[in-house]
Amino acid sequence: MIHLAEPNLTGNERKYLNECIDTTFVSSVGEFVTRFEKNVGELSEAKYAAAVSSGTAGLHMALKACGVERDELVCIPAFTFIATANAVMHCGAEPWLIDIDEVSWTMSAEVLEQELAQKAFVDEGKVYHKASGKRIAAIMPVYTLGMPADMDKLLCVAKRYHLPVIADAAAAIGARYKGKNIGALADATVYSFNGNKTITCGGGGAIVSSREDVVKLAKHLSTTARCGIEYDHDMVGYNFRMTNLQAAVGCAQLERLEEFLAAKRYVREFYNQHLGDIEGVGLFPETAWADSACWFSGLVLRSARQVRELCAALGEKGVEARTFWKPVHLQKPYLQAEKSDMMVSESIWDKIITLPSSTGITKEQLEYVASAVRELL
Ligand SMILES: *Cc1c(COP(=O)(O)O)cnc(C)c1O
Repeated sequence: MIHLAEPNLTGNERKYLNECIDTTFVSSVGEFVTRFEKNVGELSEAKYAAAVSSGTAGLHMALKACGVERDELVCIPAFTFIATANAVMHCGAEPWLIDIDEVSWTMSAEVLEQELAQKAFVDEGKVYHKASGKRIAAIMPVYTLGMPADMDKLLCVAKRYHLPVIADAAAAIGARYKGKNIGALADATVYSFNGNKTITCGGGGAIVSSREDVVKLAKHLSTTARCGIEYDHDMVGYNFRMTNLQAAVGCAQLERLEEFLAAKRYVREFYNQHLGDIEGVGLFPETAWADSACWFSGLVLRSARQVRELCAALGEKGVEARTFWKPVHLQKPYLQAEKSDMMVSESIWDKIITLPSSTGITKEQLEYVASAVRELL
């Protein structure tokens, strides 16, 4: 079977894990956690970084550190992995779902602006949702498939309403926006290091920012809000720190980030070149404003049925292919959520097929996948 996204663990992972065991530093304190945070901060061109147990925990902590509280609203795109919305709910807040733009599949600044203009009002510098009276506390764009959102436009809307921006960059480590690394664009940027992401720690996440206050608070909250070395805690915190074992794997992975990104981009280029000319086939987004991290690659087909049939037929040929995110407004826990018109999200989500995109995939495997897809289509 040629898998969709297989972890690539052929570097120093084993060596660093052995060091953890030899030194007995397996838990949330250790040299690798410190090194991992330093490395992630530096490569993101952000000054500060905090490592946590998952991307979801990172989003949750970043939202709280940016001031999101119970019964407030956070604007997020509808077309995302459900964890984006769940992190908002974990704060006791609720998502306000915004459609994406068709160029990038990321949150549309135009739709966001329209929604706020029509359904919100400003009072004493704060923004409220007219129908519920709830305060709008933050905007959280998602860097879909590793593609940064058009941040200049979104930050402009955010600035007008004095709202913090938290970027769900779960799968976007290494992406660039207008030549700059993505790590310092928003008030907080969050990565995931889950097993299927470009860089994995087995599981894990990180919050990066140029704002020391945000990262410090996120770290404090994720470490049970402990003050000093005695049992003093000044808030209701969480046990969300990354362990040294996870960070050991992460440190080894980061040594190969450039190689992994190049591999991901090669996969994208390969499918575009070898399958882009098939009648009725669309490609994954490219924008003038960003270099995507190309987390997953694949195609846009004509119908949901065609996607399902191709997935099944590829499976029989030993190729793992899958559908992609079902938008949040169609998910059971979020059927009642406030939302914009969903024209773009609804027109594309079930026509997307993701194809094998592992960093370790060989040229022969890519050729096999491409010829199987061509033949079946
Ligand atoms: C993977 C992912 C997450 C969740 O990260 P976990 O580490 O699995 O908790 C959140 N948002 C997006 C867009 C993702 O792709």
